[in-house]
Amino acid sequence: MADWQRITGNGVDFELKTVDVGTMGNVVYIVRDTDTHEGYVIDAGFEPEKIAEAVDDTKVQAILITHGHWDHHQDLDALKQKLGVPAAIGELDQGMLKSPPEQVLVDRQELPFGKNVLKAIHTPGHTPGSTCFTVGNQLFSGDTLFPGGVGNTKNETGHFFTIIRSVEYRLLSLPDDTVINPGHGKPSTIGTEKPSLPEWKERCW
Ligand SMILES: [Zn+2]
Repeated sequence: MADWQRITGNGVDFELKTVDVGTMGNVVYIVRDTDTHEGYVIDAGFEPEKIAEAVDDTKVQAILITHGHWDHHQDLDALKQKLGVPAAIGELDQGMLKSPPEQVLVDRQELPFGKNVLKAIHTPGHTPGSTCFTVGNQLFSGDTLFPGGVGNTKNETGHFFTIIRSVEYRLLSLPDDTVINPGHGKPSTIGTEKPSLPEWKERCW
């Protein structure tokens, strides 16, 4: 299992851990303040024991769910119980969880941990309540932005023109060195992906 990666600069000092779970390439992220160990778990698809172990002595403030699709919260209730912490999801996706969340997230909500602040960015399109999170030079993009394109919109919750607008104005406007940590698979950066936007618009996916 990957270890803690320390991220500093621009007024942040936190640690990040990446946990691969399940069989669909889902990735769970844990952030925590370097000193106080206060932090958040981002997504909770599968393998709650593995996530709980990776959490270690982190004082989890909440489990943040990027969007309502089942593979991002299938075992959320088990993890909530194990850690004894609340769950939060974007307002418009709250009905997609198996049990109601303790908190709902709104655009630009600030989620403090130690001296750092994780910011929620409402990015509708893959689902109506899809939410990304950013702190320092790290972006947690759920299923909204991947290396090579935007998230799938060919399903009942998706809308291509909505996701393109979210990605163009809310995510690709972040600094080029921002690391994109997607809900499935490997990371990329804003600078790497930004030049492809016209191509994504043209192909409509
Ligand atoms: Zn999804």
